[in-house]
Amino acid sequence: MLPILYDFAIVGGGIVGASTAYKLRLRFPDDQIILLEKEAELARHQTGRNSGVIHSGIYYKPGSYKAKLCFNGREQLVTFAQQNDVPHDVCGKLILATTEEEVTRLNAIYSRGLENGLNGLKLLTQKEFQEIEPFARGLAAVFVPQTGIIDFKDAVQKMKLRLLERPQNKVHTNFHVSGISKSANTTELKSKTGSVEAKRVIFCGGLQADFLAELDGIKLDIRTIPFRGDYYDLTETGKTKVRNLIYPVPDPAFPFLGVHFTRMTDGSVECGPNAVFGFKREGYQRHSFSLADTTNALAFGGTWKLFAQHWRMGLHEQQRAWSKPLFLKALQKLVPDLSAADIVRSRSGVRAMTIKSTGEMVDDFLFEQTERHLHVLNAPSPAATAGLAIADVIVEKIKGVEE
Ligand SMILES: Cc1cc2nc3c(=O)[nH]c(=O)nc-3n(C[C@H](O)[C@H](O)[C@H](O)COP(=O)(O)OP(=O)(O)OC[C@H]3O[C@@H](n4cnc5c(N)ncnc54)[C@H](O)[C@@H]3O)c2cc1C
Repeated sequence: MLPILYDFAIVGGGIVGASTAYKLRLRFPDDQIILLEKEAELARHQTGRNSGVIHSGIYYKPGSYKAKLCFNGREQLVTFAQQNDVPHDVCGKLILATTEEEVTRLNAIYSRGLENGLNGLKLLTQKEFQEIEPFARGLAAVFVPQTGIIDFKDAVQKMKLRLLERPQNKVHTNFHVSGISKSANTTELKSKTGSVEAKRVIFCGGLQADFLAELDGIKLDIRTIPFRGDYYDLTETGKTKVRNLIYPVPDPAFPFLGVHFTRMTDGSVECGPNAVFGFKREGYQRHSFSLADTTNALAFGGTWKLFAQHWRMGLHEQQRAWSKPLFLKALQKLVPDLSAADIVRSRSGVRAMTIKSTGEMVDDFLFEQTERHLHVLNAPSPAATAGLAIADVIVEKIKGVEE
């Protein structure tokens, strides 16, 4: 029997890869599509370890991919969740300012939200926001009605089911792409367990995005650097103090949103994540270490420039990663009644952060296209929310190759 020549192979079964496979199946229903994932199941890394928040798109630079694709992806994701029984709840969130300086920045976020097309945003006083979150304290808040929570792992499972509705399509787990060989019109993707041949390949490797691009012979001026985020869970008494989602006003010098409270779809309430340099790309313990990953990060000049620019913040984050009182202090800024007995250490996730050789962080989603391949080089938050819209961009780019 001749080996199958797939029309499309997608490497990486996180939400970006799964959304891409699903959207390709809708656009090219008769084509043969294969989704390849190195783990035993899909969504084991960023997608399955994130905060589970459907982001509204309030923060992002108007006109950027992030702003446009978050807005559009959110709407698509909620519709997909409704149609496919994915646990979710569009419950809204509070962004809370606790100092005068933060109030100024909160007002700017509110204006940006309007620019980004969000309706129904509300600027609230303490008395008003305490009707939503009685234990929250601050000078002012913005209520964002579009924000929600979702089970992203379940969303990916449902995308897989929709892909496999066409019998010619396949999902191969335990398939770690470790070699790429190109011939005139096709590409062979090799793993220890076999190989797959396809006409076009889309790489959605998340924390391994730069490795895959380099394996494909692309010269990069960027590197994927892991940033671990640790979470605490609220105990039963802690849960009486938080109803839904409470966020701080983010620090503009820092690419993360700051530790926040998130009700999850299973009813638990998580606090976090912080953001510390990770010594292992897929390492989820505080002591996780990989010599190869650490050497790779530290051999890149951009990493040192990033450290030099943010060393003070980096040091503080490292201390907070090991100190429950420091973590609690950040949470008490938003909910002062919270006590040490209300929080227990829980899980971690690792974010893929893309750094340029100048030390600058790549903020927006980033794609690199060659003749028959497309690499998603940067898909940070809100890429889980935006996944279906990112997939539309990929299908458009790949479609150009087709026609
Ligand atoms: C702590 C944390 C909190 C976050 N919170 C949110 C949030 O609340 N809302 C939101 O919208 N976004 C959030 N994000 C961001 C979001 O989770 C990511 O942007 C998104 O999941 C990226 O999806 P992905 O498919 O690109 O990557 P991933 O989910 O990491 O998937 C990449 C996949 O590629 C596979 N792979 C890699 N190399 C190979 C190979 N050689 N062969 C085969 N397979 C390979 C991996 O095993 C993995 O399954 C958060 C991220 C983190 C880490």
